[in-house]
Amino acid sequence: MESVQYHAPQSLEEAVPLLKQARQTPSRILAGGTDLLIQMRAGVKSPEMLIDIKKIPETTGFEIGADEIRLGAAVPSAVMDESPELHQQLPGVVEGMELIGSTQVQGRATPGGNLCNASPAGDGAPAMIASSGQCVVFGPNGVRTIPVEEVCTAPGRTSLADDEFIQEFRFPTPKAGQADAYLRFIPRNEMDIAVVGVAANITVDAGGICTAAKVTLGAVGPTVVIATEVAELLVGTKLDDATLEKAAEIASGLGSPISDKRGTAEFRHRIAGVLTRRVIKIAATRAGERL
Ligand SMILES: Cc1cc2nc3c(=O)[nH]c(=O)nc-3n(C[C@H](O)[C@H](O)[C@H](O)COP(=O)(O)OP(=O)(O)OC[C@H]3O[C@@H](n4cnc5c(N)ncnc54)[C@H](O)[C@@H]3O)c2cc1C
Repeated sequence: MESVQYHAPQSLEEAVPLLKQARQTPSRILAGGTDLLIQMRAGVKSPEMLIDIKKIPETTGFEIGADEIRLGAAVPSAVMDESPELHQQLPGVVEGMELIGSTQVQGRATPGGNLCNASPAGDGAPAMIASSGQCVVFGPNGVRTIPVEEVCTAPGRTSLADDEFIQEFRFPTPKAGQADAYLRFIPRNEMDIAVVGVAANITVDAGGICTAAKVTLGAVGPTVVIATEVAELLVGTKLDDATLEKAAEIASGLGSPISDKRGTAEFRHRIAGVLTRRVIKIAATRAGERL
């Protein structure tokens, strides 16, 4: 690895001149480094400057408000997993992050890094999108807010400019009767990349009728697939077995998965259906418990 300039600004203000410099100097934002440092060692990425954002308070805390949940982009997944409040409010978002790698990796891996690494198989994005997450993007000209689904544009690519980073995520605080869930399939018990990952955010009323739904599929295309047809099917139903079978059938036809050593495209299509049925059930059960 070539030597690189390392900067760790202590505030958003201190980050501004560095971000301006990043317009000219090939640079990367550093969060946990569990993707970036490996890519640098492998020579896949060779930034001349690293901007470590973990000392910026806005990126490292979280706050659960009555209407909105704020999650710093550089909060490690282990910290998310240790929070009963986050488990209570956004269990699916936590599930997407807490299954990453090993205990050591979880002490470093962050939701901002997971999203901005832009792996089609990243576990963080499906639930963040299903739970209507927004990204607060910081740059020298201030902040802008974009939906999580607008960040990844292709494998390894994001819509962020060289002089921007995600400061935090914001989620609407789930209402009574609303909950999310995330499930993935991997060939091993842990330490592997999702063959398929599916998230659901489901709202039910006191009669058990689904009043709102969002379902997302990871690893079946270059970026997360939002399964609008599945959501439309679910709303107005009691999420009975026949509806879930139909949801699975629709989900298994979505995306354009690849075939690789972890599974063929045909297998991924089939697993997408199975996981969709299961994850909707889990989210709906949780939603019912929140009435
Ligand atoms: C052993 C091992 C197992 C793993 N298992 C999994 C797994 O099961 N599932 C999974 O999804 N991933 C897995 N990963 C990949 C990795 O741990 C995750 O993607 C992790 O969430 C990355 O977060 P990070 O903070 O370490 O990112 P970093 O490595 O710091 O950054 C990743 C990329 O995002 C950019 N970036 C970071 N933060 C921001 C920000 N706030 N704004 C803009 N750009 C930013 C960086 O410049 C870099 O390009 C694994 C990695 C290892 C080493």
